[in-house]
Amino acid sequence: MKCPFCQNEEQKVTDSRDAPEVNGVKRRRECLGCGRRFTTFETVDLTLQVLKKDGRYEEFLLQKLIKGMEAACQHTTISHEKLMQIGSDIANDLLTRQLKVIDSQELGEIVMQHLQALDPIAYIRFACVYRRFKEIRELEEAIAAIQPKDLKEANVCH
Ligand SMILES: [Zn+2]
Repeated sequence: MKCPFCQNEEQKVTDSRDAPEVNGVKRRRECLGCGRRFTTFETVDLTLQVLKKDGRYEEFLLQKLIKGMEAACQHTTISHEKLMQIGSDIANDLLTRQLKVIDSQELGEIVMQHLQALDPIAYIRFACVYRRFKEIRELEEAIAAIQPKDLKEANVCH
């Protein structure tokens, strides 16, 4: 990228931090040509579209992803910070794969893999929301796979 002041292409990054408000990362840069400082935002939402079941496309938004997970994780042991972490891990994975489009179902599967490893109750709740279970049998199997210690809540689907 070029310095907005002198067009020099070399900068050093002096600070990088998450910028959830723009769905990306904010970097503080210092131009190696003129020494001036500026901030850049790197966003993922401009490049990735989610293909929904009804055939429509929707921009991939990290916040939306986190919100969806949060709904499934209410009253579980998973913290908001943890969900933000998972969300940005997923976003980074997708970015690394250089996808332009991801099927909403595939995205749901990825989320579920993360939740399953973390908290089986959250996993089943999320799966219910996304109608992952095609048959009651699949839901029963998922519930049967839960360790008794995790079963603090009985009504996982409602
Ligand atoms: Zn410069």
